[in-house]
Amino acid sequence: MSKKDPAIAELTANDFGPASRRALQDAPLRRALAKATNTFKGRREAALDEMPDWEALRTHGRAIKDETLSRLPHHLTRFIEQATAKGTQVHFAQDRAEACAWIGDLAERLEAKTVVKSKSMMTEEIGLNHALEARGLYPVETDLGEWIIQLAGETPSHIIVPAIHKSRESVAKLFEERLGAEPDLDAVRLTQLAREILRTSFLEAELGISGVNFAIAETGSFLVLENEGNARLTTSLPRVHVAIMGIEKLLPRWSDLETFLRLLPRSGTGQHLTSYQSIFTGPKRNPGDEGPDEMHVLILDNGRTDILADEVTRETLACIRCGACLNVCPVYAQVGGHSYGSVYPGPIGAILTPQLAGADQATPLPGASSLCGACRDVCPVKIDIPRILLHQRREVTRKLPWRAPFERLGFWVWARMASSPRLWRIGTYLIRPFVRFAGGSNLLSRGFCRLIPPLAAWSGGRSLPTPAKKSFRQQYEESRP
Ligand code: SF4
Repeated sequence: MSKKDPAIAELTANDFGPASRRALQDAPLRRALAKATNTFKGRREAALDEMPDWEALRTHGRAIKDETLSRLPHHLTRFIEQATAKGTQVHFAQDRAEACAWIGDLAERLEAKTVVKSKSMMTEEIGLNHALEARGLYPVETDLGEWIIQLAGETPSHIIVPAIHKSRESVAKLFEERLGAEPDLDAVRLTQLAREILRTSFLEAELGISGVNFAIAETGSFLVLENEGNARLTTSLPRVHVAIMGIEKLLPRWSDLETFLRLLPRSGTGQHLTSYQSIFTGPKRNPGDEGPDEMHVLILDNGRTDILADEVTRETLACIRCGACLNVCPVYAQVGGHSYGSVYPGPIGAILTPQLAGADQATPLPGASSLCGACRDVCPVKIDIPRILLHQRREVTRKLPWRAPFERLGFWVWARMASSPRLWRIGTYLIRPFVRFAGGSNLLSRGFCRLIPPLAAWSGGRSLPTPAKKSFRQQYEESRP
């Protein structure tokens, strides 16, 4: 059973403020994040340079997702009919408790002591490992990053690169402490060691659990994408395979796959294609065939029907979990995934977590964005994340009635000033000495900043800029011939 790191395991989305402040002081974390996110950004840009039709592809992908979401019950029914006809057993779970109970019961029926898992955000969302461990079962993550995270007792900090926050040195130290490995192994030896240990788990496991990247209503098939081959072993060696998917993972037709197989790997890792693309259409047909004897698909709602019913936030369900928005987000790059206190960090987490957990359980997250729009620009299915964040901020303000009048007053003053050159001139003239004083580095100025709450919050992590002696307008007027 993995030992949990309480500093990470107990974080909630409402801890975003203190958690992100702590992360900002963590220099190795910020170095690891900068290195990894810049690498993925660079690879994505290089992959897109070879795609003159990228914008058309994004538009097409989004159209398919919109079409699917607009008739989701129809596509779900079709998928169930087709999958059942091919021998797959399809089940429904309303929430995480139902899903975990069903999988736990199945594992007990199989008398499975070891359960192998390939990477799946859905199993993270429902806390499956924890639920299985509570029943005395031993779930083993088989994706290398997930395995490292499990060994460290942490949670993933990125949706496609779960150990993005870890350097090679910190992984070597972890292996030395937990596995008795030689000190300071290089990346190849670390991987070899993980591989040797995992091979035993694959051979022992009675049950293999995977996620689902896409499910095809037309054929009852589903697809799992990965780069290490571990998902293929997870889904083919154990006697029983369970795939867990959210209701939004559907695509209507087989031919729709082509679009998403081009969009997803380029956006996420900058690859032309993911290394392993496994498509499942039922369990093995004959005793001599390869593959599991039993194949189950567990379709989970867990709040998605409510998201679907909301016209503003519905597009969140178009997400294909590529992780591109995390890699370009200036907030994520500074504070990392654990600060979000949710399995879904970064821009997609900032909009999804309040919808799944409830807005009052994730109040700071809609504010965890500079609204620069980089997430919207890279999203392969054109999800307008800043628009949803603004909508959620309005909702948060509505629920905090004491905040609304101050914000309204502030924005009213701002709007009046910004729309009148005369008022703007007078306002900036009057505020200049105040900003100059508050931005000073002497003790009096710093003490003054700490006394006024909004200024204290703002100046806690940065200095107030000292205004120039003359405004831009004055300088412009004076420099005119
Ligand atoms: S919101 Fe868009 S960019 Fe972010 S993970 Fe989802 S599909 Fe990828």
